[in-house]
Amino acid sequence: VVARTPLIAGNWKMNFDHLQAIAFVQKLAWSLKDAQHNYADVEVAVFPPFTDLRSVQTLLAADKLPVALGAQDVSPEAAGAFTGDVSAAMLGKLDVRYVLVGHSERRAGHNESDDTVGLKARAAVAGGMVPVICVGETAEDLETHGAAAIPVAQLTAALAHLPADAEIVVAYEPVWAIGSGEPATPEQAEEVGKALREVLRTERGDAIADATRVLYGGSVASQNVASYLKQPNLDGALVGGASLKVDEFSRIVQFKK
Ligand code: PEP
Repeated sequence: VVARTPLIAGNWKMNFDHLQAIAFVQKLAWSLKDAQHNYADVEVAVFPPFTDLRSVQTLLAADKLPVALGAQDVSPEAAGAFTGDVSAAMLGKLDVRYVLVGHSERRAGHNESDDTVGLKARAAVAGGMVPVICVGETAEDLETHGAAAIPVAQLTAALAHLPADAEIVVAYEPVWAIGSGEPATPEQAEEVGKALREVLRTERGDAIADATRVLYGGSVASQNVASYLKQPNLDGALVGGASLKVDEFSRIVQFKK
């Protein structure tokens, strides 16, 4: 059995300006310090909007806080005439470690294809970062294809763009569970988590399949987080709404198996 350090990741989406971001991270750090949180046991990451990254980076460095910084998106291009986009090199300079790619809000709202998602993941890897590849089925997909088929296809498509040894994180987020207050059951999430790990095993071999963290996301809260982390193929949570409340996010980070 390979020990995978759980990752609790807070996706802030389009919330908090840079001053609110600093206040939030400071309060989170105090709360986890009071609780004597051991960051070696559970890794914590926050994914602020681009405009907050520099401020949060400065705070994390000044106070030597072991909270990882993530970005919510990245351009597939290296540089040039791409108005409004942000490159992996720019994110790397801000000590960004993780980059969300393929979040359902971007797949749906910005028409991102599996290929675009794969190219973004590749750009993140080339920039020295770890892409958090988000996959998940809609309610309609679930009825038509069952839970695992679409996430499996999405992960397979993204892997085709990545170097064989790239470190990645996979986030299984059923679209119907995001922001709905209706999370997948731990058993449902585990079933898909297991299928996604099988994809990694087939495409990348045992060592990478056993080392890669698969997160669950979709209406995660402090009351249900432990039930997912108990599952053998789930190694953390991608948290949206509940990551915006300091006390609640702190409780989620301190989940007990
Ligand atoms: C998300 O959008 O990544 C997410 C999981 O949102 P929520 O926790 O609000 O369902």
